[in-house]
Amino acid sequence: MSVKVCKFGGTSLADGNNISKVAEIILSDPSRKYAVVSAPGKRFSDDIKVTDLLYTCYKESVETGDCSETFAKIRQRFHSIISELELQFDIDSILDRTEKEIEENKDADFTASRGEFLNACIVAVKLGWEFVDAKEIIFFDKNGSFDEKKSYPLIERRLAKAKNAVIPGFYGTGADGRIKTFSRGGSDISGSIIARAVNAEIYENWTDVSGFLACDPRIVYKPEKIEVISFKELRELSYMGANVLHADAIFPVRKGDIPIVIKNTFRPEDAGTLILPSKKYTPHGNIVTGVAGKKDFTVIYLEKSLMNSEIGFARRALSILEREKINFEHMPSGIDTLSLVIESKYLKNGTLEKLVEEMREELSPDYIRVLEDIALVATVGHGMAANIGTSARLFGALSAAGVNVRMIDQGSSELNIIVGIDNADYEKCVRAIYKEFFGDKNGK
Ligand code: ADP
Ligand code: ASP
Ligand code: MG
Repeated sequence: MSVKVCKFGGTSLADGNNISKVAEIILSDPSRKYAVVSAPGKRFSDDIKVTDLLYTCYKESVETGDCSETFAKIRQRFHSIISELELQFDIDSILDRTEKEIEENKDADFTASRGEFLNACIVAVKLGWEFVDAKEIIFFDKNGSFDEKKSYPLIERRLAKAKNAVIPGFYGTGADGRIKTFSRGGSDISGSIIARAVNAEIYENWTDVSGFLACDPRIVYKPEKIEVISFKELRELSYMGANVLHADAIFPVRKGDIPIVIKNTFRPEDAGTLILPSKKYTPHGNIVTGVAGKKDFTVIYLEKSLMNSEIGFARRALSILEREKINFEHMPSGIDTLSLVIESKYLKNGTLEKLVEEMREELSPDYIRVLEDIALVATVGHGMAANIGTSARLFGALSAAGVNVRMIDQGSSELNIIVGIDNADYEKCVRAIYKEFFGDKNGK
């Protein structure tokens, strides 16, 4: 029988009422054999996610050894879930133990993982399914990366023994034997890993929107929905900030050629977005598939005559970053110029000044300039390479909207064009690109 793995996000599991909807969805299709769940998310816009409350508990435990005040809020959330679901389940003994462990362990990852752990226990009881703890089947290696060689056989063997199972997302066991989490939003990765391990027919990712939209719905009112998108396009868009799906969630399923579908828990009848391996994907008519972006980057721009003939210039520039353990996002270059685009959060407390000084000394550039408060916006689509004039349209639209382009990077995949603009122009830029390629029927 074909197997579907379904992952439900925080909003889908934020309260008892929503968990009932989730249970209905899961049980309506017997091929949904394994469910991966997030911690309870926001119930209303200024609500606090359980994961965020847990990070506060961690901080309080480190600072004062007592997290009881914040933990009481978490306790309350789980109590209301249990009573809304009318479950006979003694959650208090698990909560008491968890609070004690958080205060004693003083471990950020362990603490953060408890939202998924507790919610998975509840969903398992609600469904009458087995609970399989992620710590027994998902492992990380000593570099902190997912250890597929160790994990896949364990997952396969363990789940083969379970008719159905609920598995908490977001965490596994680190090389030191302690609980380790993925980065935020990481339950998407857990779901993808489980789907790959059981060779699922499809990985269903259930969230609070009816699919991947052509741009962030908080910027453009009701943007077009993307019906089908390739793994490559999705990777570009999610990496650049369209975080409907964690950018790293693609890798496990991609290796197994397993499609993903993004579905809406609150409108399960909607088709959602189908994400296909590139070889199974036939480009649709649109030139551009989607637009996404992120704020708060810094660009270090280096200029040096005959840079291109100076062997090792780029390597030396990058080795300065490596020495300081700083990641760069992009490195657009010209004949005599090189720009390094870095997330500003890595350059605080004098790090930027130190880097610039080291570059000045070790690279002797003719000119070095720093642009701060830069946003990056990526326009992504397989159709762009084949359509002459796409960049002319893009830059024409930005100029008409009065957006000053500070940096351009055309990805070597010809799948995207990335522009660097001032943070302040971010929303304007996304709207202008959306309007140019999708029309202004929904432009705000
Ligand atoms: P979950 O808790 O289910 O994992 P997330 O909050 O991580 O859900 O992701 C869904 C949210 O992503 C949506 O509510 C939406 O606000 C936001 N979002 C950002 N960009 C896009 C996009 N291009 N398409 C759809 N949703 C987007
Ligand atoms: N609960 C975790 C977070 O808020 C993981 C997830 O929801 O995917 O980031
Ligand atoms: Mg998410």
